[in-house]
Amino acid sequence: MSEALKSCPFCGSEDLELDNLVDADDFYVSCRKCQVQQIANYTKEEAARRWNARSLETEMGMMLLSIFSHVSHGGPTREEGEALLKKAGLI
Ligand SMILES: [Zn+2]
Repeated sequence: MSEALKSCPFCGSEDLELDNLVDADDFYVSCRKCQVQQIANYTKEEAARRWNARSLETEMGMMLLSIFSHVSHGGPTREEGEALLKKAGLI
């Protein structure tokens, strides 16, 4: 049984998904509400552990992915993306 996932560090949602792309070692956690997503590069256990660990590296990676994801889906502007990074204390 995998470790329970903590709520999304960015929007607080508990509507999360732990899934993998193709291989057994490319699991990632994503938030269905704000679309933030980990880099898909982990085992299932490692993806859950890193999501819950909230390391700066993990948060930065997820934040950047989230912004790129939003931009590619016609989401927030660059200014809104920078506001998100400031809110998270990353810039
Ligand atoms: Zn979220």
